Amino acid sequence: MSEYNREQAEAITIVKDHLKTLSPSALVSLRARIKNYLGFRKDVDRFLRRHFSSLCTETCYQDHYSACCSYEGIITFFADVVINVMVSPDEEVDRLLQVLSLANLGPKCVYLGKRGCLWRVKPMVCEMFLCEPAKRKVFDKEPEAMRTWEKIKHRQKRYTWPNRPVLFDDLESYFIEKGYYSSLMYCHNSPGLLRVKTLAQKRRKTRENP
Ligand code: SF4
Repeated sequence: MSEYNREQAEAITIVKDHLKTLSPSALVSLRARIKNYLGFRKDVDRFLRRHFSSLCTETCYQDHYSACCSYEGIITFFADVVINVMVSPDEEVDRLLQVLSLANLGPKCVYLGKRGCLWRVKPMVCEMFLCEPAKRKVFDKEPEAMRTWEKIKHRQKRYTWPNRPVLFDDLESYFIEKGYYSSLMYCHNSPGLLRVKTLAQKRRKTRENP
């Protein structure tokens, strides 16, 4: 198993196993934490379906090119894994673990199945990726859609960019407090994101004690 697949499988297994230990009320409270984010993802899906779905299907998906899924080792945050495992039936989680256990034969993402992505709520990096030709085609004709997309990107940061308390950091902290660690906990181990957090903390302190 490749290093990438091993890290992914470990993160999925941590979440899957931990969820099994939770009482119904603890599960309800964990679900409450991700509710807003799931609403945001529905809004993104609606936007993408409305403005990009047919274009992407015609230009990329029908001929199995799927350019945006042609990278091995796509970045997934630990929180992506948590959220996806929480909303996925056991069989879908097991399917992810199964594909990770196989040798990846081509340059495509290990999670790309015959009918598309195997994730129910796909990683944030994938959801927010629009290739340049697609953006040009849509946004040149619909400047209003471009403005909406900018707003969506801004909203996305409120869940992921740790210059303030955000869900992605919060979910990592939750699992760390329970004694788990994963290399996908980028809000806790990426030098760049740690710097963002430190600078934001300093700014907050200066505001509180000028
Ligand atoms: S995780 Fe899913 S959406 Fe992202 S690159 Fe892989 S197959 Fe594509």
